[in-house]
Amino acid sequence: MSDDPAYRPDTRIVRAGRRPEWAQRVVNPPVWRASTILFDDVAAIDEAKAGHGKFYYGLHGTPTQWSLAEALTELEPGAAGTMLYSSGLSAISTALLTVLAPGDDVLIVESAYGPTRRLADGFLKKMGIATRYYAPGVGAGIAQLFLPQTRAVLIESPGSQTFELQDVPAICAAARAAGIATILDNTWASPLLFPAMAAGVDISVLACSKYVGGHSDLMLGSATANAEWFPRLERTTFDIGHNVSPDDAWLGARGLRTMAVRLKAQGAATLEVADWLANRPEVSNVLHPARPDFPGHAIYARDFKGSGTVFSFALATADVARRTRFIEALQLFGIGWSWGGYESLVTPVDPGARTGLPWAPGQLVRLQIGLEDVRDLIADLAQALDTA
Ligand SMILES: *Cc1c(COP(=O)(O)O)cnc(C)c1O
Repeated sequence: MSDDPAYRPDTRIVRAGRRPEWAQRVVNPPVWRASTILFDDVAAIDEAKAGHGKFYYGLHGTPTQWSLAEALTELEPGAAGTMLYSSGLSAISTALLTVLAPGDDVLIVESAYGPTRRLADGFLKKMGIATRYYAPGVGAGIAQLFLPQTRAVLIESPGSQTFELQDVPAICAAARAAGIATILDNTWASPLLFPAMAAGVDISVLACSKYVGGHSDLMLGSATANAEWFPRLERTTFDIGHNVSPDDAWLGARGLRTMAVRLKAQGAATLEVADWLANRPEVSNVLHPARPDFPGHAIYARDFKGSGTVFSFALATADVARRTRFIEALQLFGIGWSWGGYESLVTPVDPGARTGLPWAPGQLVRLQIGLEDVRDLIADLAQALDTA
């Protein structure tokens, strides 16, 4: 069922990747476990090519992985293909290694996911690749930062923990004019809320451990690329030897089918919680890009089709013990990393310095809003604020 692109996203997410030759007579393509693939004869070995939809060797996947990869490609208008990874972080590292070589320079937004920064400051540096961090508000001004050896811009919008927005179309247009590749970590929005290729992105990465899995029981990543970059991304992925187990791909595909409806319900509840917190005297600042008072909200209004499920807020006083009391008083919010599952979570966050967003250590709390009744979540937050 490779589909008519005229179908709306909610229709495509139900149908995408379910080719009859992969699924046979069942609804979901089953788990095809394989290392060895058998050939009809010796000539068939020479004719076979490794790649999406082609039986060759287990490393290059089976219909289970191809189906999920194709579904993710179909959700991203303008994409040529998708590669799967064992985590969101390995999708980010492989996208960077596809584009960069020793001696190159990469621009990364300062509010990028922490482990992305660690990768840049450690491994990439050791490989002779220099990283410079830019402020999220840079927009078309990114062109002033380009050096002759700049090869890539890594964008994450909204940023991790502090959720600053970026003008992705302007950054991509400037990069394209200079022959520089753009990689977007689109985990917060997914292609449902922010179609990345349409905004000019070359490679769009998702931590599928979040919304695609959707049930907090799966580590998975994906990188979706346009026609210019997909062949190189595929080559690098195979050369490094990445492979996702068919069981994990199957779980990802199962989660994907309900992602649109989960995102709608959880995104709406997330906004309701954010708005409620903004009216509380114990809260000094709500960092959610869908709120009109958030810096750069105009970009959200222009580019996004809805809210993700995670945001942060600042308690009015920077008192670490008080923040800990608040977090531990919550009954419905699990304390834990990651997000994008069906259940609510809370974590204390203390990001490094961010341009234009002042706060003190001990103030920030990050919430992931799940599928619980939002009235119960708000009542729980109210009692925890009172307790703290
Ligand atoms: C969680 C996350 C990742 C990494 O995904 P993993 O699957 O946990 O490796 C990357 N980027 C963002 C924005 C994330 O929130």
